[in-house]
Amino acid sequence: DDVLTARELYRFYRAGEEETLALRGVSLRVGRGETVAVVGPSGAGKSTLLACLAGLDEPSGGEVRVDGVRISHRPETERARLRARHVGVLLQTRNLLPHLSVRDNIRMAQHAVRGRPAMTAEALLEQVGIERRGRALPRQLSGGELARAGLAVALANSPAVLLADEPTGELDGDTEQLVLRMLRDRAADGSAVLIVTHSAEAVRIADRVVALDDGRAREKGGRETGHAFR
Ligand code: ADP
Ligand code: ADP
Repeated sequence: DDVLTARELYRFYRAGEEETLALRGVSLRVGRGETVAVVGPSGAGKSTLLACLAGLDEPSGGEVRVDGVRISHRPETERARLRARHVGVLLQTRNLLPHLSVRDNIRMAQHAVRGRPAMTAEALLEQVGIERRGRALPRQLSGGELARAGLAVALANSPAVLLADEPTGELDGDTEQLVLRMLRDRAADGSAVLIVTHSAEAVRIADRVVALDDGRAREKGGRETGHAFR
């Protein structure tokens, strides 16, 4: 019962003379209600993997499915539509539009999906503990508030798949605990949660840990995940 599957992902970059194979046949699965942490050194391919899983980037080869739907190898507009509906993305740069208030950022995310959202912007703001900051612009927020606002936007459409890149980096203890609790709650509600992280705290809440190194994934204490489908 997998909600997120990546099958034999390759990502080839060419920048001038420089050629990089950032992903070399990465396969992974995250089931309903499961939390997976992806760890690995800088340059291992973590950001590239997350971008491919979110449909923000296209793998050169392989396939990504979210909530049973293929999101890879589609035009960008279709990937954006599928992402809005099925995937919440929490990025290091925070997933907020700078010229919109926090509340309008949430509404914008919800507007991208047809139908009535499960939670109102107000309820989301309250859930992440910034109910009084809805009118503020992202640049007017503290680091902790910004993280909470990013979380509210990522959760705006109750996504089946939640992807987070270093969600607890440089946060105060309270905010870190809140972010981890919200990620756990999401998994408890049946979502597939994948966290790219260096934090031991974040690794601790994961059901499984996948180590990425030089574009290859290996289940911690297990076999190379690329062979899982053979
Ligand atoms: P990590 O997030 O684990 O630090 P990245 O996914 O950012 O790793 O990068 C993996 C490899 O791909 C690195 O060698 C990096 O230099 C290269 N890379 C990442 N993005 C690009 C890009 N847009 N163009 C060229 N090379 C890239
Ligand atoms: P992190 O290590 O925190 O994941 P990186 O510095 O590896 O961050 O990458 C930050 C951004 O820069 C990513 O979007 C990545 O795709 C891009 N990037 C990384 N390496 C390169 C590169 N060699 N050429 C172009 N873009 C790159």
